Amino acid sequence: MIAHNFDYIVPNSLSEAVNLLQKHGAGAKILAGGHSLIPMMKLRLATPECLIDIGRIPELAYIKDAGGLIRIGALTTHYAIESSDPLRRQCTTLGEAAATIGDVQVRNKGTIGGSIAHADPAADYPASILALDATIVAFGPKGERKIPASDFFVDMLTTTLEPNELVREIQIPVRGGRAGSAYLKMAQKASGFAICGASAVVELDSSGAISHAAVGITGVGSRAFRASETEKLLRGVKPAADVLKRACEHASDGIIALEDIHASADYRLDLARIFARRALEKAIERAG
Ligand SMILES: Cc1cc2nc3c(=O)[nH]c(=O)nc-3n(C[C@H](O)[C@H](O)[C@H](O)COP(=O)(O)OP(=O)(O)OC[C@H]3O[C@@H](n4cnc5c(N)ncnc54)[C@H](O)[C@@H]3O)c2cc1C
Repeated sequence: MIAHNFDYIVPNSLSEAVNLLQKHGAGAKILAGGHSLIPMMKLRLATPECLIDIGRIPELAYIKDAGGLIRIGALTTHYAIESSDPLRRQCTTLGEAAATIGDVQVRNKGTIGGSIAHADPAADYPASILALDATIVAFGPKGERKIPASDFFVDMLTTTLEPNELVREIQIPVRGGRAGSAYLKMAQKASGFAICGASAVVELDSSGAISHAAVGITGVGSRAFRASETEKLLRGVKPAADVLKRACEHASDGIIALEDIHASADYRLDLARIFARRALEKAIERAG
């Protein structure tokens, strides 16, 4: 279908983009890579009166290793994330999530800021963003606001961003010592979106016991979530196969799963338990 008529504005800076958001109010939408918004407009699920195209603001596309913290600009493409050396070495799960998104065309245009602001329940990044304890830096009329990942995703297509704010940066703390991470997913065959995706981040102490375990899961519920019960059961224990299996039986505790033509709710809950265990095994192997 053909999208509804709309105005199109190209700001040159972040402040100009925020001013335009304020001026045009609820009728305005930010356009980044366009790989979620344009399909929605063509289906008339979104009918913005005005598109503010931030795609040409140069200061928003970067990956910076700031020593202990990796900073990723909102306009950084999935391809740039997938092929970044610092991310591959220090936040493997995020690069792995990026590499599984859609196809080459989607990864060349789609951006991390657009993906997390869109908050599709089947998007790949949210699992890793949660497990990595990332911080989302929003920018609005009052300047910057830091939002912990655990507070960012509220529900299907809903985040805690204010209507006049945009995502400026994603900050990821780097774990030192014996740390490892991984992202694994069961993809929907036609689109590549996650029926279930699991991200695990693990740190081992000098005795080989788990000192930190975080598991983020996407595709299962109306928003990505942390498998907190699993994480609790793993803290301080040696990562034997039976221990992991028992802990991951609780990976989808308390979650109301989605149900559609691709997978039943029960199947999604099962996948969460299985993919949590597989992602943990991989992360532990990488932690050495
Ligand atoms: C064929 C196809 C297959 C796909 N497969 C997958 C997949 O397997 N896994 C997956 O995770 N995703 C998948 N996607 C979605 C893809 O990753 C999108 O690129 C991404 O979801 C949106 O990023 P974008 O830059 O294109 O954002 P846009 O489409 O430009 O914007 C999306 C939404 O975010 C808002 N927005 C954009 N940038 C910002 C910002 N900086 N601050 C605030 N709001 C902002 C927009 O206003 C809009 O509401 C697929 C898409 C297609 C078309």
